[in-house]
Amino acid sequence: MTRPGRHFLQIPGPTNVPDRVLRAMDDPTIDHRGPDFARLSKDVLDGLRPVFQTRGPVIIFPSSGTGACEAALINTLSPGDRVLIMETGWFSHIAWRHPAEKLGLQVDYVPGSWRRGASPETLEERLRADTAQAVKAVVVVHNETSTGVTSRIADLRRAIDAARHPALLIVDTVSSLASIDYRHDEWGVDVTATGSQKGLMLPPGLGFTAVSEKALAAAKKAKLPKAYWDWEPMLKNNAAGFYPYTPATNLLYALREALAMLQEEGLQNVFERHRRHAEATRAAVRAWGLEIVCEDPREYSNSLTAITMPEGHDADRLRSLVLERLDMSLGTGLGKLAGTVFRIGHLGSFNDLMLAGTLCGVEMGLRLAGVPHASGGVMAALDSLAGAPKTEPALSR
Ligand SMILES: *Cc1c(COP(=O)(O)O)cnc(C)c1O
Repeated sequence: MTRPGRHFLQIPGPTNVPDRVLRAMDDPTIDHRGPDFARLSKDVLDGLRPVFQTRGPVIIFPSSGTGACEAALINTLSPGDRVLIMETGWFSHIAWRHPAEKLGLQVDYVPGSWRRGASPETLEERLRADTAQAVKAVVVVHNETSTGVTSRIADLRRAIDAARHPALLIVDTVSSLASIDYRHDEWGVDVTATGSQKGLMLPPGLGFTAVSEKALAAAKKAKLPKAYWDWEPMLKNNAAGFYPYTPATNLLYALREALAMLQEEGLQNVFERHRRHAEATRAAVRAWGLEIVCEDPREYSNSLTAITMPEGHDADRLRSLVLERLDMSLGTGLGKLAGTVFRIGHLGSFNDLMLAGTLCGVEMGLRLAGVPHASGGVMAALDSLAGAPKTEPALSR
């Protein structure tokens, strides 16, 4: 079916791919063992470090984000190793607990509310109780995409240090990297895993891991079987600008362009842009009289907002009406939030007018679906964007 105008892709990933990035992918595929490729490779590997805020290596896999997560586990751990995975929502389960169990690791899945981030207090308690230091790694999802809750990684790091525990810290930043401030080195993270199709503004198809010295040392002793995902031949080949197998060349063109865009805007400005859009979105939700899933304002996600439907109203019916009538995709409720929650993605390549259009679409959708709500959400968001104090009427003269 022909639809006039642009589709609004407002799921929390894949995100809108900028035209500049799409055009960059249009270049002919080159010899991945030639000198031009080595230059491309060096550009993207160097360009990625500041985005992870690390001086260490970043490894690129032709995979989705889940591949990078699996690589994080199998490169650092051995069969039967204990891993502590903090429950935050659907992704702590599907991207970490599920594969970790399949890989033969012993998983301590630390129960958590789907409305809050991973608790530093609980983590410290768990690690203090582990006097035998059987836990080899702690896994945390930085930004839980199913709930719109961001865990406080610096505080979780402090909890590990306070317990004087040597476990590796593995963090999933699939829906936060390049949208929400994230500091691999400063926060003492050992492995950071992410994917291409969210904050990095690329199509799906690349997985990334940033790796600390400590993780590299652990990798030397790790015994889980690996071949394709092995970091060692990757790092060896990368040093000369190459890969052990055929890389996703055209996605690397896209990556080079996206990194240039992030650098031109400035990472701090990118974070501030996302903070501002997230705040405006929450202003809209409050004005509609709907409920934000995240309970703790310190943990509000700046890349997406998850919203609970009023009792008796189906989130997926709202979503399908918005898609059919307005050509906008919103995020579905995942896991136990299916049907009761929908999500607005406001990450990646996104600006004020895109946000305004998105929120207009949600407000129109609420009307179309007959969902009880107060009008004025869009106005509240516009006021928030303009920096107007909440209590003052809109400017008029
Ligand atoms: C999207 C996402 C994943 C999975 O990434 P894929 O690219 O779909 O494999 C894992 N964790 C989080 C937090 C995500 O948002």
